Amino acid sequence: MRICYIDESGTPEVPGTTDHFVLVGLSMPIGFWKEADAQVTQVLTRFGLENAEFHTAWLLRPYFEQSRIPNFSNLSTVERVREVRRYRTTELLKLQKTGGKRHSNAKKTYKHTAPYIHLTQIERRDAALAVAEAIGGWSECTIFAECINKIHFDPARTHRSVDEQAFEQVISRFQQYLARQPGNAPSSNYGILVHDNNQTVAKKHTDLMRKFHNSGTLWTQINHIIETPLYVDSSLTRMVQMADLCSYALRRYVENGETDLFRAVFRRVDRYAQKAVGIRHFAGLQCQCEICAAHHRGVWVTPP
Ligand SMILES: [Zn+2]
Repeated sequence: MRICYIDESGTPEVPGTTDHFVLVGLSMPIGFWKEADAQVTQVLTRFGLENAEFHTAWLLRPYFEQSRIPNFSNLSTVERVREVRRYRTTELLKLQKTGGKRHSNAKKTYKHTAPYIHLTQIERRDAALAVAEAIGGWSECTIFAECINKIHFDPARTHRSVDEQAFEQVISRFQQYLARQPGNAPSSNYGILVHDNNQTVAKKHTDLMRKFHNSGTLWTQINHIIETPLYVDSSLTRMVQMADLCSYALRRYVENGETDLFRAVFRRVDRYAQKAVGIRHFAGLQCQCEICAAHHRGVWVTPP
């Protein structure tokens, strides 16, 4: 039995606010969960993040006040927190007078980044990389993903929305992986999906999954995945946060060419007959990226 944790990065709307929409499934056998969780805790403890929600995008964005606090990186943890809080309180009081969007944006940013203000930008990047490398070392785990460049996406041809295509692809790849596993199939090779409880997609993905159970996806029958996705609060479920890190890493690679987090997690993508069958970059055949090379031609820039 395997759990597949699903999360996304980027906006599925066209054009939305990102070039790409990425959906990831991070799957692991249930017997490995405890070990995986313990490893993540160990890494996060090194950075004082063991009790925090691990939200990669909020963790890694620049925190402007850190550059305005003199000597920030040489301050103690307690001093850093105190100075950032002081700066933010002053800033909020200032913005309160004018109100409007800047005030609400600042409040939102401060709330989401509060657990990470004791770390410099380099330390936060190190934390994300350490977690990504831990995931990269989990040979028991397999990643499935669809990375859609929305410029190349034509709903008139696919008859699907961006997020429907991504979900169908990830489900199909997880199913095909389960069907390929040795054992007394299918009884020993079941999988279940655990998904961030995003109100806008929960109903849609539940309906889609029912449809797939009844009539298969475009690619395969679904007879190894049970149930419709189980929805959880991602702020409380660490492995969904790990799927979030993977989706962030993939999107930042296909959009900006950032390779550090990407190469750590790309090692775990499902491969079969030398090809990266577990992932696709939907970007046209001319794309020369590492995902396309490994998916279409079995050429791996990063050794598996
Ligand atoms: Zn590509």
